[in-house]
Amino acid sequence: MSSADETLERIKAQVEAETPDDIEIESVEFEGPELVIYTPDARTVANRDGIVRNLAQTLRKRINVRPTQEALVPHEEARVRITETIPEDAGVQNLDFDSQTGEVFIEAEKPGRVIGRHGATLDEISGSVGWTPEVVRTPPMESSTVSNVRNFLKQERDDRRDILQRVGRQINRPMTNDDDWVRLTTLGCCREVGRASFILSTPESRILIDCGDKPGAEGEVPYLQAPEALAAGPNSLDAVVLTHAHLDHSALIPILFKYGYDGPIYTTAPTRDLMGLLQLDYLDVASKEGRTPPYESQQVRNALKHTIPLEFGNVTDIAPDVKLTMHNAGHILGSAVCHFHIGEGRYNVAFSGDIHYKDTRLLDGAVNDFPRVETLVLESTYGGKNDYQTDQSDSERVLRDVINTAHEKEGHILIPAFAVGRSQELMLVLEEAMRKGDIPTMPVYLDGMIREATAIHTAYPEYLRDDLRQRILYEDENPFLAEQFEQVDGGEEMRRDITDDEPAIILTTSGMVTGGPVMSWLRLLGSDPDNTMVFVGYQAEGTLGRQIQRGQDEITLGDGSGPRAERVSLKMDVETVDGFSGHADRQGLESFVETMHPRPEKILCVHGDESSTNQLSSALYQKFNMRTHNPKNLETFRLS
Ligand SMILES: [Zn+2]
Repeated sequence: MSSADETLERIKAQVEAETPDDIEIESVEFEGPELVIYTPDARTVANRDGIVRNLAQTLRKRINVRPTQEALVPHEEARVRITETIPEDAGVQNLDFDSQTGEVFIEAEKPGRVIGRHGATLDEISGSVGWTPEVVRTPPMESSTVSNVRNFLKQERDDRRDILQRVGRQINRPMTNDDDWVRLTTLGCCREVGRASFILSTPESRILIDCGDKPGAEGEVPYLQAPEALAAGPNSLDAVVLTHAHLDHSALIPILFKYGYDGPIYTTAPTRDLMGLLQLDYLDVASKEGRTPPYESQQVRNALKHTIPLEFGNVTDIAPDVKLTMHNAGHILGSAVCHFHIGEGRYNVAFSGDIHYKDTRLLDGAVNDFPRVETLVLESTYGGKNDYQTDQSDSERVLRDVINTAHEKEGHILIPAFAVGRSQELMLVLEEAMRKGDIPTMPVYLDGMIREATAIHTAYPEYLRDDLRQRILYEDENPFLAEQFEQVDGGEEMRRDITDDEPAIILTTSGMVTGGPVMSWLRLLGSDPDNTMVFVGYQAEGTLGRQIQRGQDEITLGDGSGPRAERVSLKMDVETVDGFSGHADRQGLESFVETMHPRPEKILCVHGDESSTNQLSSALYQKFNMRTHNPKNLETFRLS
């Protein structure tokens, strides 16, 4: 008998002792971070006061109660009964039975109608068929990513269960060490923006946090071969934790599976889906540019299969001595500040990932309230002493003025934007300005991945700001579905028709004009002085966006030397509107630390140019009298 089996036997005995005698416990099993209890009396256990709560407290585990096979009504009969129980206006799209877990996934347009008052309808369903109902919302906008990921995970159900059981046993292995140190090693994104990656290690376990690429610097990847990282073998890692989906944090996660890693990735569900979308696009761009991608789409699927989605605020065991809690970071959909609790109260460290401190139209501001925290690893993108941005309300006014002026010239307005985050924020700004009559109502064309990224947002409204969630869920006035938004899906021909037509706004990728449909738009609109180009996001050094922003009026499209190279003389107006960044500015970073509860003892300033991390580090030291560092890559800190 393995030690995991012995542990499970012991836990089963404990569960039996803690539950009333009339309840039969068939078995208990670890599945990922959860303890699953199989019983023919699943419904009684779930409904009778306090049983699950008491078990969770005594065992200090997340508990999931599932029915045993004999408690389940056969599929076809269950399907009929469930359909009869749920009110018609719930808009049920699909019922999917998972025989292994006894769950039935009910996909519906209105989950609230499936759940019923205080869960009454769900109770009725589980009482009638024995299956445990799980409600999934039909995205208000069709998203191929969301449905592909859901279908893929459904297909891989058997594999996934094996993975979860293996991970569960790993997490619950007995501890073998009495030492109590905690070390943090930087593998990237120190004194630079890009290739975020860290290793957190204790005598028991090792966790990799983020694994990104460096935009514009092919081949500069995290130092995964460092002795602290993969040198001890890919499966010496207990877990990979991903703060958010942007490629400078997520691009190289699939490569871990190429190297042989087969452990879990912890992140939020929307980050999982966005990560899949962006990684596949990353491969696509690489092959279009004639580069050999560092991994294949099979490894992206493997990463998805190994992802264990977490909700904000849930404390989760990810190693024998490490608990992870994710909190909203306010940066993009699903982005998280990751808090690690190590040992029984031994040490606490939080990784900010990328943060936005204030509320935006799309998301609440970053959470900075924790039970305890000794070390904070803080992003510093806008940490420089002059990195102050205008308030968003001022920026919005400037943007409205720019649009009104451009509209008077009867030209087209071209806005390059990142598909995830900035585009949705702008859609909300434009929708409101048009609704209130602050700018004329005109078509807003969405080109590139923007529509798909927006659809993923509407599939996860619970991650969006309160008032926006209400609008998407309950009031049938989803701003993203406003009729002026139109997808460009007819390629070059449609683009030409649009430019011949009435004035319009075009929101398109890529955000830094480094490729994608924005190039076609420049070709079509660039030489007409009646048109306007508006920059709303950060333009990195070396990008075409930065050159245009600086006033360059002769640009080359396509491969600079090849036969497809094309010179365009830019005569369109070029404007820049600051203040729409997804990152906290210098003020926001200081406020995040100032109002943080509790104040950390130590801060590592990372993810910023050398001058930014340096200036932020010394400012925080002077203002708040705490130990601060601005580490280089490959430094190791002993935290405790
Ligand atoms: Zn980011």
